[in-house]
Amino acid sequence: MSDTFYGSDFDALSAFDPEIASVLTGELDRLRGGLQLIASENLSSPEVLTALGSTLSNKYAEGYPGRRYYGGCSEVDKAESLAIERAKALFGADHANVQPHSGASANQAVYGAFLKPGETILAMSLPHGGHLTHGTKVSFSGKWFDAVHYGVDKDTEDIDYDEVERLAKEHRPKVLLAGGSAIPRTIDFARFRAIADEVGAIFWVDAAHFIGLVAGQAIESPVPHADVVSFTTHKVLRGPRSGAIVCREEHAAAIDKAVFPMMQGGPQMHTIAAKAVNFKECATPEYAAYTRQVIANAKVLAQALGEHGIRPTTGGTDTHLSLHDLQGVHVTGVDAEARSDAAGITLNKNAIPFDPQKPNIASGIRVGTPCVTTQGMGEDEMRTIARLIARAVTEGDADPQHAVSREVRAEVTELVQAFPAYPRPA
Ligand SMILES: *Cc1c(COP(=O)(O)O)cnc(C)c1O
Repeated sequence: MSDTFYGSDFDALSAFDPEIASVLTGELDRLRGGLQLIASENLSSPEVLTALGSTLSNKYAEGYPGRRYYGGCSEVDKAESLAIERAKALFGADHANVQPHSGASANQAVYGAFLKPGETILAMSLPHGGHLTHGTKVSFSGKWFDAVHYGVDKDTEDIDYDEVERLAKEHRPKVLLAGGSAIPRTIDFARFRAIADEVGAIFWVDAAHFIGLVAGQAIESPVPHADVVSFTTHKVLRGPRSGAIVCREEHAAAIDKAVFPMMQGGPQMHTIAAKAVNFKECATPEYAAYTRQVIANAKVLAQALGEHGIRPTTGGTDTHLSLHDLQGVHVTGVDAEARSDAAGITLNKNAIPFDPQKPNIASGIRVGTPCVTTQGMGEDEMRTIARLIARAVTEGDADPQHAVSREVRAEVTELVQAFPAYPRPA
């Protein structure tokens, strides 16, 4: 029998706070009852969730292992040292900082380490697949830094490397940034490195989306090419909701100082312990096989949606996600998202490159396979999912009581019962 104080005691919570307990059970029912195709989500393991729900949450540990501003850090020091060593080994990196609270916090620290307010970064534009923290006007990154943006080529819909080079020579950015949230193709890191070297820029990769595929060695790693790589730990990687940074030895001190004390206060030691558990999981052959299946599934899903008239941009994907153009079926992104939702399929509307619609309407959807692959689904199930999405999007309705919503939802229920999220103990 385990001591309940190691982790969560759901019975005690439901006795004390039935309202919040019912949110927890309701969310578990939602995860079990539908298809999760949000490309940035995954289903972390019970082991990761146990570390997250532990007493390590109580501990103040400002500083780094062996150099803390508080007493009583001997146990949490072990957790952070394990997380650091495992991250370095997993990614073959000189240095790792596992304290960022999220992907956005990790990015904030990278800005803090390398840039003064008003200096220039060159990054992918948000409407072409970048991220809010890559210099958009509504973010600190666009308010405090001078951001220049590259996009994708109109024909290939993939990164326009010639434009990256031209803009780099014209603007001489302090930092050249690669990565984003809606890039279906792998990135040519060597080409970016060469451009950065040509103009004397720091080369930063924001690998938030695809770092899990790197951990499983299913795609090329940016680590040998980049000065610094920031990432989230909760997307394909499948760890706790958090962030991390790996970098070259020469930048180690700057990154550590930028995370703490420049940007953050006390680290979340429970989350750091959960990151350590996750990095151990990611070093297994099972996880590597999982990442290969994530990509195989994404390729089939993208192609099958295309066969239903829902065209994948760039013609497909090399990663865990694909971006689809709905103009051929005359449906907007916002309607596709609502109709899918009514049928038990969670996905998101997304701008496509050169989108004629406003971002809150959008002409596209983004789908990803991390969750359904964690549930054990394979290529046959992807063809079924493509057919269900196509039916919901083209014939369905935002009303869950509409006949098509109900019919698709019945098939979704059958599929998720065969491949359950968080299977109940037998
Ligand atoms: C998800 C994401 C982030 C932000 O991560 P949060 O944990 O949500 O702050 C940053 N950059 C990219 C490219 C992302 O995809």
